[in-house]
Amino acid sequence: MHAFIERLYPICRSITGDGVRRTLSAISERLPLDVVEVPTGTPAFDWEVPREWNIRDAWIADDTGRRVVDFRQSNLHVVGYSVPVNRKMSLEELRPHLHTLPDRPDVTPFRTSYFHEGWGFCLPDRRLRELPDGEYQVVIDSSLTNGHLTYGEVVLEGESEEEFLVSTHVCHPSLGNDNLSGIAVATWLAGAISQLPRRRFTYRFLFVPGLIGPIVWLSRNEERVGRIRHGLVLACIGDAGHPTYKRTRRANADIDRAFEHVLRDSGQEYRITDFTPFGYDERQFNSPGFDLPVGLLMRSPHGEYPEYHTSADDLSIVRPESLADSLAKVLSVVDVLEHDRRYVNLSPKGEPQLGRRGLYRTIGGGGFRDLEPALLWVLNLSDGTSSLLDVAERSGLPFGAVREAALALSDVGLLVETTDR
Ligand code: ZN
Repeated sequence: MHAFIERLYPICRSITGDGVRRTLSAISERLPLDVVEVPTGTPAFDWEVPREWNIRDAWIADDTGRRVVDFRQSNLHVVGYSVPVNRKMSLEELRPHLHTLPDRPDVTPFRTSYFHEGWGFCLPDRRLRELPDGEYQVVIDSSLTNGHLTYGEVVLEGESEEEFLVSTHVCHPSLGNDNLSGIAVATWLAGAISQLPRRRFTYRFLFVPGLIGPIVWLSRNEERVGRIRHGLVLACIGDAGHPTYKRTRRANADIDRAFEHVLRDSGQEYRITDFTPFGYDERQFNSPGFDLPVGLLMRSPHGEYPEYHTSADDLSIVRPESLADSLAKVLSVVDVLEHDRRYVNLSPKGEPQLGRRGLYRTIGGGGFRDLEPALLWVLNLSDGTSSLLDVAERSGLPFGAVREAALALSDVGLLVETTDR
């Protein structure tokens, strides 16, 4: 995953344009990705698809022709969606178009101007302070024209039409944790799920530009969203911080409960936060007109790590072990939701004799230390209303032990699955 991030890092992505297409093309080498092109001007609820932005080069040169700010050194130097410019200006005229972080003088900030026509450059404050007064040649060789918004979609069919949605944004230029970590983990997650021997749910992966991307997708798929049973947005999941899960608007959706269970059971540090109407693409999926059960997995929350939205969010803060851990956590959640079922105890009057049915032997030889209490918990709570995740929550036992117990009890005829509500 880290090598994939390294490869995608130099590409200048934005909410539209060839950077997104190149990124999707790299993902499509690994996954059966449908690339969808939506024309400029297409309405999407209260929005419309903007003009397409592409950039070839940009610089500020001093009177000797030397580039003092150069897009070729870092695509963060140009404000995303800058309109074309080619003129000579004094430093004073140029200054309103220059963005720096005075309190962090060595890093370049990441700025965009998607929905307000303008242009600008971003640079380290220290470099700005070194620029002498004088005339500068300012060039932004970009285009903002009628074109398309591009997104990618992967569907992995399951036994059921009910869907598990995973979404990640693909619109940031050379930034590592936000958002290449999400792109890499989503790509590997889809790869792992495509290899599962059985899938209960149909999995839908979206690789979309932030904000406008999910709005456009929702506007084109309104009749389909009722099938979404579980959903997850992945963002900022490669840094050294511990996992942070942000709940859905509903706050007690199965995805919320599955994450709480997996994180609690991991024995590692983690954080769970309540839903807020800001953040990433979960905002759109959780808007009141949809209210979909879509949570957000991060490590250090956006805006809370010092490198966020600056040139310091580079390849060095993305750690292979954090990427691997984030992937493993999501796969554990997938495993819980794939196997969560409700059962009915067929011998509910008094405890059934487990020894007579060989179940205590299973305990001796089984992999789960927690199997014996799990058998009793599953028998007790399986009245058709509690699911295995409910049993795991209430008992404090790992989901795997509860599931193992349910399978063992079903094998000897003490338990039967129910789908009645
Ligand atoms: Zn961001």
